[in-house]
Amino acid sequence: MDRVALITGSTSGIGLGIAKHFAKEGYNIMFHGLEDNSADIAKSVGDAHDIKVAFSNANLLKSEEIEDLVSSTIKEFGALHVLVNNAGIQFVSPIEEFPNVKYENIIAINMNAAFYASKAAWPQMKYQKFGRIINISSVHGLRASEYKTAYVAAKHGVIGMTKVMALEGASYNITCNAICPGYVKTPLVEGQIKDQAKSHNMSEDEVVEKVMLKKQAVKDFVPLEAIGDMALLLAKDSSTTITGTSFALDGGWSAQ
Ligand code: NAD
Repeated sequence: MDRVALITGSTSGIGLGIAKHFAKEGYNIMFHGLEDNSADIAKSVGDAHDIKVAFSNANLLKSEEIEDLVSSTIKEFGALHVLVNNAGIQFVSPIEEFPNVKYENIIAINMNAAFYASKAAWPQMKYQKFGRIINISSVHGLRASEYKTAYVAAKHGVIGMTKVMALEGASYNITCNAICPGYVKTPLVEGQIKDQAKSHNMSEDEVVEKVMLKKQAVKDFVPLEAIGDMALLLAKDSSTTITGTSFALDGGWSAQ
C-alpha cells in the first residue's frame, strides 16, 4: 500500500500514537511537530516499520507555513490520502484574566490551522477522488468546563468545520470526521496535572482522581491505542459513508 498520511503534532502524545498506528499498517508518514528530537522520532518510527517518512517543523500559527507543510508533503510523497489535524495547545484561566494572546493562539493552532491544512489538501484529495480528514477535537468540543473558554470554543468550532467539510467533500470521496477524546495521559495533560496540583493544593494523584477524571464514568485515561484504532477505521477505503460525525472516546463523559 502506498498510502500517505500527514499528521500534525505527531512527534508527541496523541499524534505520535496515531502515527505509530498508521506506520504499523504501512502508511508512509509526514511527521510534524516542534519537539527538539522530532526528526529522530520520525526516523525511528520509519526504520521500525520500513515505511517512508519525512518531517516538518512548520509553525501552525502561520498560514503560509501550513500551506508549505501540505505542499511539501505532496511533493515528497506524490500524494496525500489522510490528513490528521491533531496539534493543539491548552491554557486555563478565568475569563477576566485570560490573556488575549493565549486566547488567540489557542484559536489559531487548535481551530484555524485545521482549516488552513484541510484547504491546502483539498485540491489534491479532490484530484485523487480520495481524502480522509480526521480532526482531533475533544470532549470539550461537546461539553464545557470552567476556565477553558478558548479551548472549548476552538474544539466546538472544529466540530462545526468537520460537518461543513463532510458536506462539501461528499461528491469527491473526501470524508471528514472528528474524534473527541476525554483525558489522555500526554505531555499536554501531565502539565495540567502539575498546575492543578498547585492551584488546588492537592497531590497529583488526587488531582487525577478528584478533578480530571471526575466527569468520566470510566475512571481511566483514554488509551492512545483507542484513538489510533478509531483514526485507522476512519481512514479506511470502506469508510466512505462515515462522515460529518464526532466520535466521543471519553469514558462516558458526554453520555451525561
Ligand atoms: P502534546 O502537547 O503531547 O502534543 C501537541 C503537539 O502539537 C506537539 O507535537 C507540538 O509540537 C505541536 N504543536 C503545538 N503548538 C504548535 C505550533 N504552534 N506549531 C506546530 N506544532 C505545534 O498534546 P496532546 O495531548 O497529544 O494533544 C494532541 C491533540 O489532542 C490536541 O489537539 C489536544 O487538544 C487534543 N486532545 C488532547 C487530550 C488529552 O487529554 N491529552 C484530550 C482531548 C483532546
